Amino acid sequence: MQNIDTYDFTGKKAIVRVDFNVPLNENFEITDDTRIRRAMPTLKKVLEKGGSLIIMSHLGRPKKVDPKFSLRHIVKHVSECLGAPVAFAPDCQKADEMAAALKPGEALLLENLRYYAEEEGKPRGLAEDATDEEKAAAKKAVKESQKEFTRKLASYADCYINDAFGTAHRAHASTALIAKYFPEDKMFGYLMEGEIKAIDNVLKNAQHPFTAIIGGSKVSSKLAVLENLLPKVDNLIIGGGMGYTFIKAEGGKIGDSLHEDDLIPQAQEILAKAKELGKKVYLSVQTRVTQAFDNEAPSKLVPSHEIPDGWEGMDCGPKSSEMWREVILASKTVLWNGPVGVFEMPNFAVGTLQIAKDLADATAAGAYTLVGGGDSVAAVTQMGYADKVSYVSTGGGAMLEAIEGKDLPGIAAIRD
Ligand code: AMP
Repeated sequence: MQNIDTYDFTGKKAIVRVDFNVPLNENFEITDDTRIRRAMPTLKKVLEKGGSLIIMSHLGRPKKVDPKFSLRHIVKHVSECLGAPVAFAPDCQKADEMAAALKPGEALLLENLRYYAEEEGKPRGLAEDATDEEKAAAKKAVKESQKEFTRKLASYADCYINDAFGTAHRAHASTALIAKYFPEDKMFGYLMEGEIKAIDNVLKNAQHPFTAIIGGSKVSSKLAVLENLLPKVDNLIIGGGMGYTFIKAEGGKIGDSLHEDDLIPQAQEILAKAKELGKKVYLSVQTRVTQAFDNEAPSKLVPSHEIPDGWEGMDCGPKSSEMWREVILASKTVLWNGPVGVFEMPNFAVGTLQIAKDLADATAAGAYTLVGGGDSVAAVTQMGYADKVSYVSTGGGAMLEAIEGKDLPGIAAIRD
């Protein structure tokens, strides 16, 4: 494994996997270019050091060639951000000549990798009534042609850089398999390095007290996260929809709040294990409830363990926020993933926005704070605190898998 700072790019072609999966409006204009901007330090570094760039990414989830998902829409903006002309290869598998013609300081963007089933290595177009044998044969065929697809991408370049944290949890051709073609010439880009360091700062080198705030809708999707974090943290704040399963597990009355009855035993186990390990768990103590899942529904505040029938928890109440703020401000490391209320509805985003503020204040007081996950990142950004916390992750699913303690294929492929 190489290092982008010390690698000699002079006269070399670098193929760089980035995450340019940006949102576009109906006129194919970029509505948020964060992902493009976050890849720029890596791309600029290669050009500055005398190399040339072959940039590859996916955009959306096309199941075949579909102009709607063409990376052609973003070429101009990428070129402006990079401060260099960017050529476009309309087929990522037929870019030999364009790649060969690249001179130092030049860049080429390949068309959407996911136009091909080989990128993900999953069969497409299978009949709905396909038999298990047919499915297995199709899977084998695509895995076989994936080798050639990957070899082709690798053939364009002298070195490989992975800077796409958003897809680091996928073992795709461009995110992991390609690395083996560059045993001595593979490295992380700056964004990946930053994400890995941020994860290590909380999972391996946390300063204590370490508090994790885990929210969101379902316990089922965060169970592995809770289990991995419990031995590492001092405090666990559990909020949002998933919190009600824990409150019910403690014997609380949760009315019509979101919960998963089948996960009550697991929730009880986590609470018991926390006690055994001497970890503090902070569930919400007060909840804002409504009789309808609607932003305009009249609401009231009730104790979280006494939610009346016919009412459902929509946001944590101010008493929960106060208690959590105290815990957060007394922490040296804070990890946050998931909203503590129905964040999409402005009337019930209050608790989640307060957490964003608490993290900014904790950071100002010297704590290390890491924010990951769509709604948490949106809350921090909406409050204008993106640069007032220590790190805002660019990967939702990848960050979740990392804090579950999983080895991400995109990271392992560079390290191995
Ligand atoms: P996740 O994708 O698991 O991080 O969950 C995010 C979702 O959790 C958001 O769409 C929130 O609206 C939802 N959520 C948070 N709190 C609640 C709640 N009290 N009731 C229903 N949904 C919630």
